[in-house]
Amino acid sequence: MVTPRVGVLALQGDVREHVRVLTALGAAVDLVRRPAELAAVDGLVLPGGESSVIDKLARSFGLQQPIRDAIAGGMPVYGTCAGLILLADRIVDGIAGQQSFGGMDVTVQRNAFGSQLESFETRLAVAGFDVPVQAAFIRAPLVVQAGDEVERLAVLGDGGIVAVRQRALLATSFHPEVSGETRFHELFLDAVRGR
Ligand code: GLN
Repeated sequence: MVTPRVGVLALQGDVREHVRVLTALGAAVDLVRRPAELAAVDGLVLPGGESSVIDKLARSFGLQQPIRDAIAGGMPVYGTCAGLILLADRIVDGIAGQQSFGGMDVTVQRNAFGSQLESFETRLAVAGFDVPVQAAFIRAPLVVQAGDEVERLAVLGDGGIVAVRQRALLATSFHPEVSGETRFHELFLDAVRGR
């Protein structure tokens, strides 16, 4: 099988953890910091971190428009946590002037769990997975509204949506890359190979 060549947006956040998972799954992984590096990959991971910082850096590195164009062109993208915020068409509780790449018809609320529940782990059933995932939430965002084209892959007990897919775009509120969970990255790589 052809080795998929994928990028991890490497401006800020837990870049190394994603590189480790993708490499273990057999992908060739490039760090993406410039438009030319983006042009060389067939899929992109947006890591967890601080979405407002990644947004600002992406704009100053001239990457915002190329990433928007790649998303519009159907490039598979997987975003975790801050990466989910960056894929959302609408952000609630962003900092002043915060922008996203967009592409997913969702509204995402930053830091939606409040200070008492800043970080937690839970077992979570995911559509299409036989065995639940161990999901680590770290100052996590929540999908508070999703359009008709958005698949809800996982919801919390109270109905909060925490994993979504729309066409080639996949996003989770939580961080599979920190808990040894590889199935979301496999779904992403399947989408890259299928293109
Ligand atoms: N709260 C962060 C943000 O707004 C996301 C946290 C994370 O990625 N773990 O970007």
